[in-house]
Amino acid sequence: MSRPRRDPRAERAATFIAGEGPRPRYDRTRRAAGSGRPRRDPRAEREAQRIGGGARLRYDLTQVGRPIGEAVAAVPRSAPVAEAPKTVIVETPAFLVAVVPDAPGGRLSGHDRQVLGAARALAGREGAVAVIVEGDCEGLGAAGADRVLRFDGAKGYDPAGRAARVGVALAGLAARHVLFPESLDGGDLARRVAVASGEALFTNAEVVAAKGLVRPARGRRVEQSLAPPRLATVAPDAVADYAGPPREARALPFEGSVPVETPKNIVSATRIPADPATVPLSLAEFVVSAGNGLTDLDTFRQVVTELHATPGASRVLCDAGLMPRHSQVGASGTVLAATCYFALGISGAPQHLQGVAGCEHVVAVNTDLHAAMIERAGLAVVQDAQAVMPALLRLLAQESGQGAEGAPL
Ligand SMILES: Cc1cc2nc3c(=O)[nH]c(=O)nc-3n(C[C@H](O)[C@H](O)[C@H](O)COP(=O)(O)OP(=O)(O)OC[C@H]3O[C@@H](n4cnc5c(N)ncnc54)[C@H](O)[C@@H]3O)c2cc1C
Repeated sequence: MSRPRRDPRAERAATFIAGEGPRPRYDRTRRAAGSGRPRRDPRAEREAQRIGGGARLRYDLTQVGRPIGEAVAAVPRSAPVAEAPKTVIVETPAFLVAVVPDAPGGRLSGHDRQVLGAARALAGREGAVAVIVEGDCEGLGAAGADRVLRFDGAKGYDPAGRAARVGVALAGLAARHVLFPESLDGGDLARRVAVASGEALFTNAEVVAAKGLVRPARGRRVEQSLAPPRLATVAPDAVADYAGPPREARALPFEGSVPVETPKNIVSATRIPADPATVPLSLAEFVVSAGNGLTDLDTFRQVVTELHATPGASRVLCDAGLMPRHSQVGASGTVLAATCYFALGISGAPQHLQGVAGCEHVVAVNTDLHAAMIERAGLAVVQDAQAVMPALLRLLAQESGQGAEGAPL
């Protein structure tokens, strides 16, 4: 005796519960208890398949296996939705680890992210990372901040005033540890805060863990370690960024009054900007580079000047004597730490790409869509570099109000 053919999909669809959730849900109680499979009634099914009223019994076998009296309709399955990572919330932290990032221009630098990674290592599961920023700063939750203490700072360069304001913020926060980047501004701020509070500062930590901080000493011949102190600075490129799910970055109220007056012992403090044309490539923030696909070097130099960038080049141009050797970007040239790298007519050979691995943003102009530099770039222009450069100059002139209005780009 043959068994009626089952349709598991239809059976499953019949138990589907319509709803809005991301996952499809089914009512398992509709199935027969015990067996886990729906209980059948073969006689009733057979009866339902019977057609006509003639002398001979006739059955419509196409209905075999269908639930009796129940039309089986295709139930639309909700499309699988890629779940966004859940934001981690630490409701009542056992303690706080404060971070005072440089955040130049309202954005975390690569070094700031590393300090946040170090703070997360210290905070563990029970602690929370609180970031103290002057003005707005984006991307704090993704970088590992559980809390954000934000206050308005004074305009202009005011290191002593900033140290006083951060000191007030730290006093209200009562953090167990406070980390600064060992950068030009961060290192200076950390020392000012340490002097003002009369506390010791552990500088240039290269290892940051809950059991202790480690730094090199005596020309790297000795390592000094210490149980996590209250104030410390973190060396650049020593600690990994935070790589976990986004954190809450809940705003904290600022308690205390913010001193905005510069202390009187400083008469004037002005930041003198470095000339990008002469700044060493390894320190440059924005590098515009020429490659073998670029023939108009005069326009290239104009573009570099107008963009206030530092000039760079691929090895082919340096070997040909068209660009100075110290401008070579790459494994056998200079490895950049620039925020933005603009490559004109450069193929993106592995040796060249090694030099731009640490750049945050890469813009490439190349006629070859499949060039490795185009693949590396966040913004790619597949065009002749000789045509892009004058267009860019016209655009810059228009923006600065010098160009002829409405000139075609
Ligand atoms: C041991 C070793 C070390 C090296 N170290 C370095 C290093 O440190 N730095 C370095 O740069 N190289 C280095 N090189 C060389 C490297 O392998 C490549 O040869 C070099 O980077 C290629 O330079 P390029 O991209 O400018 O030229 P090419 O490879 O010739 O590429 C030119 C690019 O320009 C594009 N192009 C052509 N015409 C136009 C146009 N009109 N407009 C826009 N794009 C155009 C082409 O599509 C092409 O992608 C090293 C090589 C070796 C063996």
